[in-house]
Amino acid sequence: MQINKIGVIGSGTMGAGIAQLLVQNGYPVMLFDIDEKTVTRAKESIESKLDRLVVKEKISLTTSELAKKNLATTTDMNSFADCQLVIEAAPERLEIKRSIFSQLEEICTKDSILASNTSSLSITEISGQSAHPERIAGLHFFNPAPIMPLVEVVKGLKTASSTVETLVEFAKTIHKNPVMCKDTPGFIVNRVARPFYNEALRIMNDKIASVEQIDRIMKRAGNFKMGPFELQDLIGIDINFATTKSVYEGFHGESRFRPHYYQERMVQSGSLGRKTKGGFFEYDN
Ligand code: NAD
Repeated sequence: MQINKIGVIGSGTMGAGIAQLLVQNGYPVMLFDIDEKTVTRAKESIESKLDRLVVKEKISLTTSELAKKNLATTTDMNSFADCQLVIEAAPERLEIKRSIFSQLEEICTKDSILASNTSSLSITEISGQSAHPERIAGLHFFNPAPIMPLVEVVKGLKTASSTVETLVEFAKTIHKNPVMCKDTPGFIVNRVARPFYNEALRIMNDKIASVEQIDRIMKRAGNFKMGPFELQDLIGIDINFATTKSVYEGFHGESRFRPHYYQERMVQSGSLGRKTKGGFFEYDN
C-alpha cells in the first residue's frame, strides 16, 4: 500500500511529536485539532524544533524546509479524505476515540488505515462499532515521538493481518522499531511501566523518600534516564493517570495496578506536568 499523505488527529504532546516525525521523514501531513489555537501553536513549535535540529546539524536545511512545506493544519476532519493513513492522538477517553473513528469511517476511503496512538485502551473496544474494524489498529508511539525508537503495533480482535503488516512496514520507513502486540491492557511497555509510577507514588506517600530523592536515586543509582516523577511530568499526569486507570480496569480491578489517589489529586488540581508548566516540578519557558 502506497502512503502518500497522513492525517494526525490531536496536536498535543503526542500528535505534534508524531507529525514532526512524519514530516521529518518526508511524508505530507495534515495535523488536526478541535482547537484552532492549539493546532497553530503545535505547527509553530514543530517548525522551531526543526530549526533547532538544523542548528545542531541533526538534519539538513533542505530536510527542514521540505518538512515545513509538508506540514498542513486543519480543524476540519474532512481534510482527511485523501489520506491513506490517519493516526489518532486525541485524549485517552474511549468515547472521544470512538466518535473520531466513526467520523473517519464516513470521511476516509475504504482502503485507508485508521490507527490509534492509545496507550492503554482496547483497540477491539475502540473499533467495536465500526463497519470495517479490519482496517483499525493501534500504532503506539512513545514520548518524545521523534526520538523514541519503539512503536507498538496492536492487533485488535478484528484487525486484519494485512493492516498490521502495512503498519509494521510503514514504521520501518520512519526509522522506528515496530513490535507486534496483542490487544491486552497496557500492551507491553505500559504494563511493565505501571509499577514504576505506582510504587514511586506509594513510596512518596509513605514518606520513605521525597519526589526529588526518588527521581535522583533512580537516575544516579539505577541509571534510568528520567525518574518516575519527571517522567510523569513529561508524559502528562492526566495521561499517565488515565493509562493506569484503564490498565487497572482492563484487568478487572487487579490490585497491583490500582491507581494512586495522589496522582488523581494532581489531575484534579490542574497541575498536569510540563504542558501546564507545573506538576511534580515547576517549569518556566
Ligand atoms: P494531550 O492532552 O497533550 O493532547 C490531546 C490533544 O487532543 C489536545 O491538543 C486536544 O485539544 C485534542 N483534542 C481534544 N478533544 C479532541 C477531539 N474530540 N478530537 C480531536 N482532538 C481532540 O494528550 P497526549 O499526551 O498527546 O495523548 C494523546 C494520546 O496519545 C492518548 O491516547 C495517550 O494515551 C497517547 N499517548 C500519550 C503519551 C504521552 O507520553 N503523553 C505516550 C504515548 C501515547
